Amino acid sequence: MALIVQKYGGSSVADAEGIKRVAKRVIDTRRAGHDVVVAVSAMGDTTDELLELAGEITPIPAPREMDMLLSSGERISMALLAMAIHSMGFDARSFTGPQAGMRTDSRYGAARIVEVTPDRLREALDEGAIVIVAGFQGINDDTQDITTLGRGGSDTTAVALAAALDADVCEIYSDVEGIFTADPRVIPLARKLDRVSSEEMLELAANGAKVLYIRAVEYARRHGVLIHARSTFTSNEGTYVLGEGMADPRGTEGEDMEEPIVAGVTTDLSQAKITVAGVPDVPGKAAEIFKTVAKAGANVDMIVQNAASTGRTDISFTVPKSDAAVVLKALGAEQETLSFEGLVHDDQIGKLSVVGAGMRTHSGVSAILFEALSAAGINIEMISTSEVRISVVLRGDELIDAARKVHTAYGLDGDIEAVVAAGTGR
Ligand code: ASP
Ligand code: MG
Repeated sequence: MALIVQKYGGSSVADAEGIKRVAKRVIDTRRAGHDVVVAVSAMGDTTDELLELAGEITPIPAPREMDMLLSSGERISMALLAMAIHSMGFDARSFTGPQAGMRTDSRYGAARIVEVTPDRLREALDEGAIVIVAGFQGINDDTQDITTLGRGGSDTTAVALAAALDADVCEIYSDVEGIFTADPRVIPLARKLDRVSSEEMLELAANGAKVLYIRAVEYARRHGVLIHARSTFTSNEGTYVLGEGMADPRGTEGEDMEEPIVAGVTTDLSQAKITVAGVPDVPGKAAEIFKTVAKAGANVDMIVQNAASTGRTDISFTVPKSDAAVVLKALGAEQETLSFEGLVHDDQIGKLSVVGAGMRTHSGVSAILFEALSAAGINIEMISTSEVRISVVLRGDELIDAARKVHTAYGLDGDIEAVVAAGTGR
């Protein structure tokens, strides 16, 4: 008998039918003799709808009230799921984030979990009940106010529960079958991975993969939680995300023990490129520019500086599209003190990344990427690397074609088209 934490995303509990399907799955796990704790997301697009509704009331809702509002979405699904389980003859009890002992800091809308005290959950489990917890929310000890964990926060709720209860596994259910070598909606020949290291998963999530939220993966990595990402709609095994020193619970017998060099290819159309043109090529200019960018609150991703031949140079960097306007304004206001010649805004870029822990020990991994792009006549505008990732910026309208060619070049293509192309991964 194991303790299993399961998380069901919004697309899995989108309507009454979905909630009943989830209830059956939860009961199947219970019937197999396990203790089950379930974290649920809000039904379908509820969170987006609540955000819109607030926007119709006021352009600047108070953050405290926003968290009150948004936390209600998950409470609807937790109660309905408990009712569905009751109607199938099993004991279930739902708990809000605060009741479940999710204690966070005080940042409304982006709270961090500081401690989990799941006493009431343990009691309910001891009494034989299935435990349901509203995802995405907690309470701050100082203010005694409800907080939410940021978009996609139910993944983090599930992982934090798994850590606090010392669960055997944290199963994250969505409408896709697991982690793929690429987004199957972009690359139909993408293959499901049996396992991926948490290090690779962090890079995949940070560079466009949407199946798991990065904060949940970080939390799991820090607390040694085993994640199993799988589909609500099939009983197939999904993908295990393994932290350091963790073994695949299915074992690796009969399988090729050699890890693949590349785990996956991701695409990201959410960034914009800003070029600061004609920057004097003297010490301190980059520092001043990026201090201004940081003050504007933008997260810079890639940076390149061109070689200077005339005493001036161009510095380009990427930021989330949604941050571009404030960055341009902040830099524009400082043009005289920074003494650059102009600003160029380009929101038609795409970023392609190749992720794999094997890069550390294999040479020639980047050459495969550059050759594939060159053979396809695709121009590279920026390059950045980490120990386990290579990213390039290209024209956005060439991104999909590029990703398919690169996926093929690394030998990642499967034999058949993935059957899950319709899923959103949430
Ligand atoms: N309902 C929240 C959202 O849509 C949290 C979640 O789904 O994990 O972001
Ligand atoms: Mg959601």
